[in-house]
Amino acid sequence: MFERFGKLGFTRHTRVQAFVEHLERGEITASRCRHCGRRSLPPRADCPACGHGAFELVPVDPHGSVLCATMIHALPAGFEDGGPFGLALVDLREGGRLLAPLGGSFGGKLPAAGEPVRLVVRRSGDGDAMRVFFTAERSGPGDGDRRQQEIGT
Ligand SMILES: [Zn+2]
Repeated sequence: MFERFGKLGFTRHTRVQAFVEHLERGEITASRCRHCGRRSLPPRADCPACGHGAFELVPVDPHGSVLCATMIHALPAGFEDGGPFGLALVDLREGGRLLAPLGGSFGGKLPAAGEPVRLVVRRSGDGDAMRVFFTAERSGPGDGDRRQQEIGT
C-alpha cells in the first residue's frame, strides 16, 4: 500500500493507504474524524481525541513554515545514494506538522527557523519503480527541483 511512498515500502497494508493515492494526485491530506471532526496531520486512522475509527482524508494547504531543519549525512538503508540531504520539520499554517526533505530550491543550504515553505508533491521513476513523496521548497512560484516531476501545485 505504501510501496509508492518514499524509497522503501515499510507498510504494505494500512488504513491510511488513501493518503498515498491523494499524493499521486498531487494532494497532501489530513485525516478528519467522522465522529468529532478532529483533524490530524500526519493522518491517523484512530482519532486521538475520541478514539473513533471512522475518518476521511481532506486536502490541506501545503504552505507553512520551518520549525527546524538539519543536514543528514549518515543515511539509513535504502537512502545511501541520496545524501547528504536536508530535512525540515514543517508546521503547516492550517495546523499539522510533517517531516520533509529539502528540495532543490534551497540549493543544499538549510533554511532558518520560521522561513516560509510549501510542500510540493513529487514523483520519481515510472511503472513499478514509481514513487511519490513531497519536498519542502522555498515559498513562491517557479522554484523547486527540476530533476523530479512536480505533481499539481
Ligand atoms: Zn474523534
